[in-house]
Amino acid sequence: VPINLYKFCQEIIEEFTIVEGSIHEFVFTCESQTTDAVMDERLLHYILGNILSNAVKYSPEGGRIQLHLQCDSLTGIATFEIQDQGIGIPEIDYSKLFESFYRASNVKLTQGNGLGLVIVKKSIEAHNGQISFTSQVGVGTKFTVNLPLNPIIFNE
Ligand code: ATP
Ligand code: MG
Repeated sequence: VPINLYKFCQEIIEEFTIVEGSIHEFVFTCESQTTDAVMDERLLHYILGNILSNAVKYSPEGGRIQLHLQCDSLTGIATFEIQDQGIGIPEIDYSKLFESFYRASNVKLTQGNGLGLVIVKKSIEAHNGQISFTSQVGVGTKFTVNLPLNPIIFNE
């Protein structure tokens, strides 16, 4: 069953606004006209929810957290960008960030197991997708997730 990614993103941002909206500002943007995709809704919620939760956890009060969706019908790829204005990730930690139990050197008092991103990455790759990030310490972090809009066509 195809899902509407625009509606899906709107809803997850709404959900985060209700729970965390007094501390952070959540924004959703999208310019794509068609956003239908064949995806496991629960798994997508898990993936984006995890990345958004990290954005919340590693951002100071008042930080803006933006989810941007782009669906490219030519390449058949949906791109999700999650941008925050948080603590950022030190360059020295980049190469180990997707390893189990690894947490960057600047996480200080926040709690975590260092497993969220490991499971997120595995889930994305199981769908023939990719995850990457860019970051600047003290400025913010952007995670980019690419997923095929239709894995059935993709696999043929
Ligand atoms: P948990 O397993 O509970 O999710 P965690 O948040 O520490 O614990 P991951 O979600 O796997 O683990 O993230 C790994 C590390 O990547 C974090 O400990 C943190 O150092 C860094 N990180 C992830 N997202 C961000 C972000 N948005 N801003 C800054 N650092 C981040
Ligand atoms: Mg986490």
